[in-house]
Amino acid sequence: MNDISKYAIATLGSHTALQILKGAQDEGLKSIVICSQKSRRVYESYGVADEIIEISDYQDYFRIEERLIEQQAVVIPHGSFVSYVGADRITAEMKAMYFGSKGILRWESNREIEREWLKKAGVNVPKVFRDSSEIDRPVIIKFHGAGGGFGYFIAHTPEEFHEKIKEFPNQDDYVIQEYVVGVPMYVHYFYSPLSGELEIMSFDKRYESNADSIGRIAARDQLDADLHTSYTITGNIPVVVRESLLPMFFHIGEQVIEASKSLEGVPKGLYGPFCLEGIIDPQLNFRVFEISARIVAGTNPYTHGSPYSWLRYNIPMSTGRRIAREIRQGIEEGRLEDLLG
Ligand code: AMP
Repeated sequence: MNDISKYAIATLGSHTALQILKGAQDEGLKSIVICSQKSRRVYESYGVADEIIEISDYQDYFRIEERLIEQQAVVIPHGSFVSYVGADRITAEMKAMYFGSKGILRWESNREIEREWLKKAGVNVPKVFRDSSEIDRPVIIKFHGAGGGFGYFIAHTPEEFHEKIKEFPNQDDYVIQEYVVGVPMYVHYFYSPLSGELEIMSFDKRYESNADSIGRIAARDQLDADLHTSYTITGNIPVVVRESLLPMFFHIGEQVIEASKSLEGVPKGLYGPFCLEGIIDPQLNFRVFEISARIVAGTNPYTHGSPYSWLRYNIPMSTGRRIAREIRQGIEEGRLEDLLG
């Protein structure tokens, strides 16, 4: 069996770093965090990092990459890593070991091709309107790259759309999507390429400002205050789903994995943690509006495991720890290469 002490796990100090680092330690791997001086305190305070590498700007990642290579560190990408370092540079320039398929980043970062993938997987996606003249039901207008859903708006008719879009004169990169009325649900999966098995780790819903507080005031007051709904993420709330929905969630996850195997530029398909983000309507249809092909912040409430991971593992198994366990197994069995993108 190969010796795991010669390896490490590294990530950027943000997003889901706490559970990734703690998970590495719990699985007996050295944990390394790359962080700014400002966030250093967090990783010191929680004692989850065996080594802290400080950089002044997250885009300086490449200046310290050599130190990671020397320590045989496997880098775990998360949302902040992808947004700070950039999908293009990760694919073209990154030399350190990287957990996951790099090619999948292109598919998840573009709404159009991501939709192609989901449709190919047979996932129920909200209708997209090519032209505003076709609007015949409530729609949500999403600007590309809108930070945390800020500035999205809802319209019901082409006229209302034209009126509201005037407030965004410099924005022409947006999608007009059917607005699905129901409850948001984020499903956290883990697909193991070593065992070929898909697991459901947990679920969450987001705590969004101001969408999650508008209902606290009367409709009349909402109109008086001329409120605009925004979906800025401030945190995540754990959810346990109706047990009878689980077969459906397993099925959809498996379809997404299957479809990923034939995506162009992704020879190993999607593996590791990923998340389907959608709305469950009153008929219990799960309408998926987004996929994240990496660990999501919605797994953060489960540093100590979720009700689901408890059933399977009987020890506190966060998604971060699940990643470390896969890497450990890969090292021990001489199959680490199967996990690297
Ligand atoms: P997104 O930026 O795509 O993650 O969306 C931000 C938020 O907008 C989500 O968390 C949902 O609350 C809401 N949302 C996005 N798409 C839809 C949709 N098609 N129907 C209803 N709500 C949506």
